[in-house]
Amino acid sequence: TRSIRPLVAGNWKMNGLKADLAIAAQAAKGYDTALKQAVDLAICPPATLLFAASAALIGARIATGGQDCSTQDSGAFTGETSAAMLADAGADFCIVGHSERRTLHGETNATVKAKAEAAQKALLVPIVCVGETRDEREAGKALAIVKKQLRGSVPDGSTGATLVVAYEPVWAIGTGLTPTAADVAEMHAAIRTELGRLLGKAEAAGVRLLYGGSVKPANAAELMNVAHVDGALVGGASLKAEDFLAIARAC
Ligand code: PEP
Repeated sequence: TRSIRPLVAGNWKMNGLKADLAIAAQAAKGYDTALKQAVDLAICPPATLLFAASAALIGARIATGGQDCSTQDSGAFTGETSAAMLADAGADFCIVGHSERRTLHGETNATVKAKAEAAQKALLVPIVCVGETRDEREAGKALAIVKKQLRGSVPDGSTGATLVVAYEPVWAIGTGLTPTAADVAEMHAAIRTELGRLLGKAEAAGVRLLYGGSVKPANAAELMNVAHVDGALVGGASLKAEDFLAIARAC
């Protein structure tokens, strides 16, 4: 039995036009009473669909989230989206520090922390992503890297109600590769311990720790049964309502 209510969040990345709101509608339809009792769901569509997706999902009690936010409140930052704008569009969560942002947009731990703080200020719950590269894992540095990312990226004073952490090994994202259950167990236990140092043990115990990286219906049960895994952050498989719901059922 779990002490924390699990969360399965779908990251649509830069995929989705208006017509794809049908995927969200299908997920809403499949989020039946039994699933509602067991697991929280969130869909993070591209920002252009956030308003419509939130309106379509609120009746089914499926949350929504942004995929990134600005560190700034408002002003002359062309092309940026503030956390308050995401909240105003109906979002509950905001992914920050996804490895694609860290790698393709040069986001540092300090940037990620500023974004997580901006999200919390707008009453969004940041889903702070951490994870090592393949080289870092092969060099035996995975735990050290992730702890450093946590120390640099997690806002002070976060609680189980204001923070979600997603462990996403970079080499597992979109590759079909996943770590062993033992490696996930070791990492998630280490994350819980490090959050305990940063936030206090009682607060850390309530923070949901998601695993992300090639989660599919076929491997979800094994990954979701690992100790300290409180749900999943799902990329590719979240674009199929059936697969997304199957992963939720595995919790
Ligand atoms: C992600 O990008 O957050 C992710 C986990 O992707 P995928 O499930 O496609 O590996």
